[in-house]
Amino acid sequence: MTSYATLSEIDSIYAQQVAHKSTIKHSTAEKRTVWIKKMLEEIIKREKDIEQALYRDFHKSGMETALTEVLAVLVELRHIARNLKSWMKNKSVRRALIFPNVKAYLHYEPKGNALIITPWNYPFQLPMVHLAASIAAGNTSMLKLSEFSPHTNTVIKEIITAIFPKEHVAIIEGAVEETTHLLKKKFDHIHFTGSPAVGKVVMEAASKHLTDITLELGGKSPAVIDKNVNLRQVVKNLIWAKYVNAGQTCIAPDYLLVHRQQKMEIESLFKQELEEAFGTDPKNSPDYARIINEKQFKRLEEALSEAKSLGAAVVSGGVVDSKELYIAPTVVSNVAATNALMQDEIFGPILPIVYYSQVQEAIDFINKKEKPLALYVFSKDSKFNDHVIRHTSAGSTCVNDALVQIMHPQLPFGGVNNSGIGQSTGKFGFRSFSHERAVADVQLRPISSLFWFPYTEKTNKVLQ
Ligand code: NAD
Repeated sequence: MTSYATLSEIDSIYAQQVAHKSTIKHSTAEKRTVWIKKMLEEIIKREKDIEQALYRDFHKSGMETALTEVLAVLVELRHIARNLKSWMKNKSVRRALIFPNVKAYLHYEPKGNALIITPWNYPFQLPMVHLAASIAAGNTSMLKLSEFSPHTNTVIKEIITAIFPKEHVAIIEGAVEETTHLLKKKFDHIHFTGSPAVGKVVMEAASKHLTDITLELGGKSPAVIDKNVNLRQVVKNLIWAKYVNAGQTCIAPDYLLVHRQQKMEIESLFKQELEEAFGTDPKNSPDYARIINEKQFKRLEEALSEAKSLGAAVVSGGVVDSKELYIAPTVVSNVAATNALMQDEIFGPILPIVYYSQVQEAIDFINKKEKPLALYVFSKDSKFNDHVIRHTSAGSTCVNDALVQIMHPQLPFGGVNNSGIGQSTGKFGFRSFSHERAVADVQLRPISSLFWFPYTEKTNKVLQ
């Protein structure tokens, strides 16, 4: 079970990784692909243990773990194994007219020693995906797992220590003290996934050493729904995207913007479809997860109870059970603008609906808040979708569905400003952990053959 790394263990592993980073830096594509394939094999062997660990951490169902944790990682690792050799190759850029004698290209060099810090909400998927990118890019990696997913951490530690010596990849368990200690050290790259508040702490620490960072943060991700949609289908899409992992998903729809004319219909559909999905008492559903810990449970419970006291209507759900850290899949409307449900990222199974009359109202509502991690738009009219996309900003968008953008292997994943800095997954993850070095290979005549001191009439002619 959980045993936090001591500060002196952290110091020792850090020193070993610094000493070892140039060896890892020179690893070939073949060698790195072998490491990724070993991860694949080990994960496949341990799939049942991973499922059990997530169930113990927060009652996540085996099916959800298989899909959103294990399969998501296997797909990513296979994608890396298939493409790493080509990602690592130098990429030529077009010859420039002014430099016909220069062969220019981008060279991907490993950053060196990387620190990866992850949250608890996808406690297997997120650490493994970002770690794989760092390994593929040729870095040594210290992976700091969340203190709130101890069972999953144990399995990760077993998988990783079976493959890598700690001077190459080390799993660090710990909380704020251990992370703060790590953050004082000089890394070549820090990849952080978590809340915007802690993202600022990480960015400040990175600035002390001018360390490059990727910040994968959160935010209030809206879903805008046009009048013309097949509302039942949209409600089903939203129910899956919102209540998978009990709403503890960084890109879950945080709140809905729905045309006022559809109030009765959408509220009735949510009631029907939630019952169809989870039964009359979702607490008994084997598919429905719990809130990770008491702190998160209390935060959500208090926000919901304050919303109700300020006049919010519970459309569906609303039942909570502190002993089981259970919050029913809940839909609310008429939530006060000052309530935490409308102010902060919800990160739980509560979904407020806000009604609009004109799409401009929905756009203004979104733009008054920080730029979200994701924005969803549902319409049969592509002009409506384009209009919403062009008049808002978000890390990513999915049109007429939700969460799909994160699963697409050719798309980067990331936020914008308050919801994140930089990109992850696939070749974008590889690039985040690499330095894209510009190389100008000057062939034949060097520049000094054109410009040489003392500057003369002849030099001026070259400039014309
Ligand atoms: P968090 O920011 O509290 O913690 C993340 C990590 O930082 C953990 O490993 C934790 O131990 C460490 N940490 C916490 N406080 C710290 C401090 N003061 N100093 C140093 N380290 C500290 O986030 P969380 O509660 O674990 O996760 C929820 C948040 O993560 C949500 O905002 C969610 O949107 C976001 N998230 C983002 C993504 C993404 O890919 N963009 C994915 C999952 C979760």
